[in-house]
Formats: sequence, C-alpha cells, structure tokens
Amino acid sequence: MPPLDEDALLRRAARLAAGDIPAGWVGPGDDAALVPRGDGWLVVSTDLSVEGTHFRREWASPRVLGGRAVRVAISDLAAMGADPLGVLVSAALPADLPEGFAEELIAGIEEAAGTLGAPLLGGDLAGTAMGIVLDVTVLGEAPRERVRLRSGGRSGDVLAVTGSLGLARAGLHLLEAGRAPAEAAAVRRFLVPEPRLAEGRWLAGRPEVRAMMDLSDGLAVDAPRLAAASGCGVVLELDHVPRNPEADIVAREAGEDPVLFAAAGGEDYELLVAVEPGAFEALAGAFVREFGRPLSPVGRLLEDPARREAVRNGVPVAFPAPGFTHFRGEGG
Ligand SMILES: [Mg+2]
Repeated sequence: MPPLDEDALLRRAARLAAGDIPAGWVGPGDDAALVPRGDGWLVVSTDLSVEGTHFRREWASPRVLGGRAVRVAISDLAAMGADPLGVLVSAALPADLPEGFAEELIAGIEEAAGTLGAPLLGGDLAGTAMGIVLDVTVLGEAPRERVRLRSGGRSGDVLAVTGSLGLARAGLHLLEAGRAPAEAAAVRRFLVPEPRLAEGRWLAGRPEVRAMMDLSDGLAVDAPRLAAASGCGVVLELDHVPRNPEADIVAREAGEDPVLFAAAGGEDYELLVAVEPGAFEALAGAFVREFGRPLSPVGRLLEDPARREAVRNGVPVAFPAPGFTHFRGEGG
C-alpha cells in the first residue's frame, strides 16, 4: 500500500470544508481553528496519539504516555499564541490492558492538563480490538490581535526557532533501539515535550512576528509548510540550526550527519516564527532577556513560492529529507 500523504489529505479536507466556514473564522490549514468570540478568539484544535504510530506501550509508563498526548496537543495552542482553557480526551482502549493501566493513563492525562493550565473538561471512552488511541481536543482563547497564523509571513522574513532541534528525535531513536535511560534529556524531550505557551503568547504579542507554528514534524517539513501558507519559498541555513550535544552524539552513533539530523528531527515542539527582517535583532535580544534562551535564526522566506533551498557554510546543498512524519515516518 502506498504511504498516505498527510499534507495532501489535509488539503483535500480543507477544500471540502472551506465552503462551510463563516467569514472571519479560521478553519483547516493552521495549528488550530479560530472562532471569533466577544473581543477575542476561541482557539480549538485536536490531536491524535495512536499506539504503534506515535508511541509504543513499552516506551514508558501509562502515566507518561497519557501526559505526552496532552502536551503534544496543547502545543498547537502555543503555536497560535493562545492561552489554554481546557482539554477533552476521547480514548479507545483495548480490553487486554494490564490491571491499573487505564487509571494511570487517565491520571497522566489529568496531571499534564492541570500542569499546563488546561483542566480536563470531559471526554469519552470506548473499547477497541486494536491499539490505544487517544484523541485530545484542546480549547484556548486569545485576544483578537494576539494570534499568529502560518500565513502571515512575507518574502525576506527571518525564520527563527525557540530552541534546539533534534533532541526529541534522538530520544525516539534511543527508545526504538531499546536503550533509553529515563533520565536522558533526549528521552525526556520526546516523552515529556514542553509546549512553548509563554513563548507563543509573548511572540504573538509582537507586531514584528508575522507568522508562527509549532515544530511537530521537523524543520525540514514544517518550514516549507509555513512558507507555502504564506505564499513564499524558503531557504534554510542548516549550519545555524541550534543543536544539542546529546542529540549530536546520538546522531553520530546512528551514522547520521548531526546537522541534517537536527534539521529533519520531529517532535521537538519548539515554535517556528517568521519575523520582519529589520526588527529581528531587537526581537531576538528581547527574547533572550525574557526567556534566557536564544531565538535562533534558521533561514528566510523567499519571494518565489517554488523555491525550497538549503545552504550550509555559505554553499547551496540539497534540501534536507524529512526525518519523521506520521503515517510513513521512522515512528512507524
Ligand atoms: Mg501544530
């Protein structure tokens, strides 16, 4: 069976839905839907975590796996600049789960939701003859001016990320290899992702930030998505992609180039922004003062939407291949 093309399917769904969406609402194609409410937005998104596709049961305790599903879903609120209101979780659970597994899974869901300021508001449970499926719906809100879509970028904008990339992919690699000490930063980054809610809010409040999304599938996949939504092309400066020494070690052990490993790594849930070029330096300075971490420039948006380029040490190189996408990725 040929692999499903997630982007093509989502585009088709968006076309089918387009006619039904009221003017002034934001429907499919962004990290979350936006529904106008009073002076602001109701922000809604949904995210599936499927056993065998996004996680394996043996990778972590049910508490950690439940928490991960919620954290990943809430990242889409961060991607818009929204404040969380709550989550709803529907779970399909196999009948053969070990004693206490379901209770621990739900406890992990509740714990992560509470930690991130998004109380568990409801959900549904069903049995299944297949693996565990967790469908997490997140609700958030934002003032009218303080959201950022993927589509606001312009030619020449600086693309920048809120943290190092590749560490979650390193964690996934260790988990898949069955040698993943729970205390390893890489494993933690994969199993307990940190939605960048404060950073998202802060960035969405700056007029020089024109577009934003979260990095779920890796810079090599997500940067072209933001560029396409903005009607632009993209050039990535691969040697500027911020990396983590632990991820570099795992990449080398896996026989991969650490730079490409980071650029293609998924599941980091850092934010990617497009910033007005003349304002980038001041913004990056304010960001590091606010968060104690750099806002790292990794490329630019280009005028020609057909251009998808990469540069390394000033020399044009092939655009990095995706390292992880759901349906066909190494997550399997
Ligand atoms: Mg997203």
